[in-house]
Amino acid sequence: MSSMDTESDEEAQRAHMATTALLARRTRLTRSLRDSPYDLVLYIERAVAHSELGYPDLAAGDAYRALLLTDEVRDEGFEYHEVAAEALRGHEERGILGEGGGEGVTALLEVASTRCYRILAISLLLCGCLKSAHEFCERGLEKAPGDEELTQAQEYIINLARRRLKTETVNPEDFPDQGLVRREVYPWNDYEPDRYSEETLEFLNAELAKVAPKCVALVTELPTLGDALVTGIDTDFTMPTNKQLGLFAKEDIGPMETVLHEISALTVNNSQVYPLCDACSTELPDVGSEEQCVPCEECVETVYCSQDCHDFAMETYHPAVCDREVDGIAKNTHQRETANMLHLLLLGRALAMSATQDIHPLELKEVKYIWGDFLPTSSNAVPYSPQAGPPPVWTLPFSFRANITGPLDMLEKMEIDVFAELDKYDLWIFNTLYSKFRGTASARVNKLDGRPEVAAVHPLWCLANHDCDPNVQWEWGMRMKLWARGERIDGRSPGVAKGEEIMNHYCDIELPVQERREWAKGSLGGYCMCDRCRKEAKKEEEVAANGVDMAAMVSMVNGMSMVHEISKAHEMAANEQPNGVPEVNGIRQIT
Ligand SMILES: [Zn+2]
Ligand SMILES: [Zn+2]
Ligand SMILES: [Zn+2]
Repeated sequence: MSSMDTESDEEAQRAHMATTALLARRTRLTRSLRDSPYDLVLYIERAVAHSELGYPDLAAGDAYRALLLTDEVRDEGFEYHEVAAEALRGHEERGILGEGGGEGVTALLEVASTRCYRILAISLLLCGCLKSAHEFCERGLEKAPGDEELTQAQEYIINLARRRLKTETVNPEDFPDQGLVRREVYPWNDYEPDRYSEETLEFLNAELAKVAPKCVALVTELPTLGDALVTGIDTDFTMPTNKQLGLFAKEDIGPMETVLHEISALTVNNSQVYPLCDACSTELPDVGSEEQCVPCEECVETVYCSQDCHDFAMETYHPAVCDREVDGIAKNTHQRETANMLHLLLLGRALAMSATQDIHPLELKEVKYIWGDFLPTSSNAVPYSPQAGPPPVWTLPFSFRANITGPLDMLEKMEIDVFAELDKYDLWIFNTLYSKFRGTASARVNKLDGRPEVAAVHPLWCLANHDCDPNVQWEWGMRMKLWARGERIDGRSPGVAKGEEIMNHYCDIELPVQERREWAKGSLGGYCMCDRCRKEAKKEEEVAANGVDMAAMVSMVNGMSMVHEISKAHEMAANEQPNGVPEVNGIRQIT
């Protein structure tokens, strides 16, 4: 072994030991917070641990909670004033991270808020939320003029914004604020089930028996998705595969026969023009029609399309949000925030379900078993050594509003004590829910303005894997419906034979291979590697290999007929219900 190897081995070992020690510290602090939930110093200390572990988003979340608690200490009229002040007095001697000890509570408060602003500014900067990071610099500098760390952070943020916006004159109002953070099963997350265990399959199959009696969930091998836009791979070349769950026919299913019919409480809408059913987001029956709307008895503005939806809502989520205007937090929003806010509404719905059913958010059956497109913690980790390669690309969309303030505001409206119930409402739990929603949610757009308006997670429907040569079609009205296609892509006989896998489609299958792969990338988590994509990509590659002139010739000869083909495809797509599923920000979308 060369000395280089020994050195890097030692380095790796040191890094591993440091991480283990930090994780233990994080666990200790989380436990202390359970006993003393209004102690802002514990939050600041945990923020530092999160930051050293390479989770700037979680550090920002803790610093923000600490900052809220500084307000509680300052204002006698606030709900948690007494308990928060009492907890802070416990640190008078020691101070906060070695600062401000023995100088009294007022001095300690100053130290605390400056610390919070610094952590928020730097952590949000690391997440890519420049606008929010800049705001915390400004607010911090107002309280602590000339603070060196905040001044430096501010300069850095402005420079970065200049680079990202490619202009010298920048306005903080226009700074980018959409960031990315680690998408993983956190090392301390004990809720994530083994999705391939007997127990999981037994549970899912009992659920499937109710909505898809001819189907069974099984563990299957799927081709590993491409992370670059690789073209075709020779058919005799062994494809790398990975384990996934899949849906299989346990009996023959005839063409056009219904395969699955699923209703999900995780269905939300941001419609402000006309009200939709609060439970299933379908259009409400017209006034005077035979079917009647059913309002909630307590808050008349919440309306259901039917008694069934009303009863379903009362059982699953509505009591926690009744007459509390929780959804309003995510409804009035700027257009470019629409997708984020639909995800926030989904998160709010999950939190309401958790409160109504008294189940931990990650234990909800609609959430627990779904795929989160998580990356291994090791590939998300920030390398310690300055000689190491570039930092990893994180994949979970993150914003200060959608991930930190939005969920806390919703919980506050639900009259939930976010401090006392940290074990249910910690930021890593919101992030885990978001990871699952981002991988599996579908969206429906408004027919008039084309904006995504309804979003839902159908935990059983999303068990069916994607293939660009699908054997089923889907439609989403009041419920999500899957049925066997009446026609196959290449004219093979339709229907699904016993034992065959149900293959759904997450993108418009009429598109050419490159476009299909781009469309489906968000919901698949990589480029599609189905048989059809590989074959078609290989064909394109061969055409390309024959030279540019050849390709030009082919396209010239085909010119006329291609125009014809394309318009025919568009026509078919328009008639087929539903046609494709263009994808916006990771939401599968039906038009
Ligand atoms: Zn309904
Ligand atoms: Zn109500
Ligand atoms: Zn494909």
